[in-house]
Amino acid sequence: MRITVLGSGTCELRSERSSPAYWLQAGGRGILLDLGQGAWRRLLDYGHQAAEVDAVIISHPHPDHMADLIPLLFALIYDPQLAATARITLLAHTGLEPLLLALNQAWGDWLNPSPEVLTRHWLKAGDQAQVGSVQIATATAQHHPYSLAWRIQAGGRSLVYLGDSEATSELARFARGADLLICHCAGTDQEPKTGHLYPSACGQLAAAAGAGSLLLSHFYRVVDPEEAVASAAGHFGGDIWAACDGLRLELTADGAAEL
Ligand SMILES: [Zn+2]
Ligand SMILES: [Zn+2]
Repeated sequence: MRITVLGSGTCELRSERSSPAYWLQAGGRGILLDLGQGAWRRLLDYGHQAAEVDAVIISHPHPDHMADLIPLLFALIYDPQLAATARITLLAHTGLEPLLLALNQAWGDWLNPSPEVLTRHWLKAGDQAQVGSVQIATATAQHHPYSLAWRIQAGGRSLVYLGDSEATSELARFARGADLLICHCAGTDQEPKTGHLYPSACGQLAAAAGAGSLLLSHFYRVVDPEEAVASAAGHFGGDIWAACDGLRLELTADGAAEL
């Protein structure tokens, strides 16, 4: 299982940190975790192609986590190469369906690819799904009414992507024993942001979950990534990485390692 950070940033418009998106290669499948603006440019610049995408997971419908869904919907109809070959599953909270319908109303059928090309799979917390041999489970993330946390398992490895969320005991249970926990560290310990995690809370959550390693991401300018790692390390003894765009981690039986 391999994860590439496409966007380690937030809604802030920055060249060095694109909006939230991650490229997961697991069980022979390619899965995008969120599609913040700039995700496609990063994916292509990092040597991948849209044709490699089997599934897209949207954690919650804030624009910086899903803005690049719009160019995908358009390309699935009007990019002849992609439209002919792509078979993509979109997985998101059921609350996203009306938003997609509203997009269709605003743009007409320009953004309405056929169900053969794009399978819409709407879920609620506790639902499960499968992409090939990749097992996917969901839980409630504490951030937006339509937020979901995602647990992804393949080939004996597991990753938990919380998206934006506060810490809850349910999420600690949900992430139990994951090889890698991805936490969105949006505020500082001194100035936490409502609806988000902050560095020491990320470390506490990873420790409570018994996770193997921790990836801190979703950095606003006010958060110093190195300070965030140090703060999380005060609570969690496993490996901790501060995400930057382009960071690649491989999860093996020996743990997570940077490529
Ligand atoms: Zn959000
Ligand atoms: Zn966010």
